[in-house]
Amino acid sequence: MSKLLTKLSLKLWSDPQQQQAFVQSLTDPQPLHPCIAWVAEPLDEIPFQRITPLPWQLPFVDRLALDERPGKHFLHQQGVYYCLDFSSVFAATTLTPIDPRPKIVLDLCAAPGGKSLLAWRLLQPHLLISNEVIGKRVGMLISSLKRCQIRPVWVLSADPAILADNIPISADVVLVDAPCTGQSLLAKGESAPGCFHPVAIQHNARRQRRILANASQLVVPGGYLAYMTCTFSDAENERVCTWFTRRFPSFVPQTVAPLLGFQSHLTDMPCYRMWPQSGLGAGAFTMLFRNTQKAKSRSPDLNSWLDNNYRWCSDQL
Ligand code: SAM
Repeated sequence: MSKLLTKLSLKLWSDPQQQQAFVQSLTDPQPLHPCIAWVAEPLDEIPFQRITPLPWQLPFVDRLALDERPGKHFLHQQGVYYCLDFSSVFAATTLTPIDPRPKIVLDLCAAPGGKSLLAWRLLQPHLLISNEVIGKRVGMLISSLKRCQIRPVWVLSADPAILADNIPISADVVLVDAPCTGQSLLAKGESAPGCFHPVAIQHNARRQRRILANASQLVVPGGYLAYMTCTFSDAENERVCTWFTRRFPSFVPQTVAPLLGFQSHLTDMPCYRMWPQSGLGAGAFTMLFRNTQKAKSRSPDLNSWLDNNYRWCSDQL
């Protein structure tokens, strides 16, 4: 593993100090500040010690002192907040330029539900559709959404290709928090077997391209597509974006002002990265596109398709 990690660090960084810092953040992970997203307004009296927010931090997010354990507090079980890595907040910040308020947000890769919650909280869509293709992960998605009383939300479990075929042109915002090699798990002290292996990287890059191609069919003209991963290899991130912009030129890269300080040095496109050596979070990549196609009518079949295929919903349509 360490040879492949060293090789990746040489590819990502020309500066030896950065190479070393990157490798060290993954081989000798340091504690990260716990982070919570408030589902409603923060309580008047917060039972945790918070640390000073960063200038771009979403207003309903708090980072906490290192020794806080918000996941063990009864307020967590009551769904008052959701615990997540700060990298997820970083990735979701890519949604901030989205305007106007979307009718429908479709989260294509949703379990366990962190990005669905952040998108719902930030964009306040008229309807959230959370999709998780892997059947055994749907339960945890539903339980997060129920616990935090997210509504209105419909949960699906379909391959993105099925959705593209059956309900094309249906969402104002499509979120692709793509399955990836998960290299950032190492920065949390977790394991990610094979995450630096070229075969695994290529497999994930291909899968991400397939998901993005299907996602592009789901976005209404003028709508947005947000792509994000929690891994570092450029083959899964910048190079997937390069492929996507060539293959789908009507999807135009969008600048995300709050993330300008996180511009990826590996491309000129507005791709943003949180590196693990920043100490802010385990690490993430994100990019936002806008569909500039001319008006086409929305899928007329959305409601009936949802009715026949949903796994769980908070309220009937
Ligand atoms: N968005 C989630 C969150 O913030 O809590 C994390 C999503 S995780 C990075 C990627 C998800 O994509 C996993 O739940 C995985 O089961 C799902 N997935 C795997 N293969 C997929 C595919 N071919 N199409 C869509 N999603 C897939």
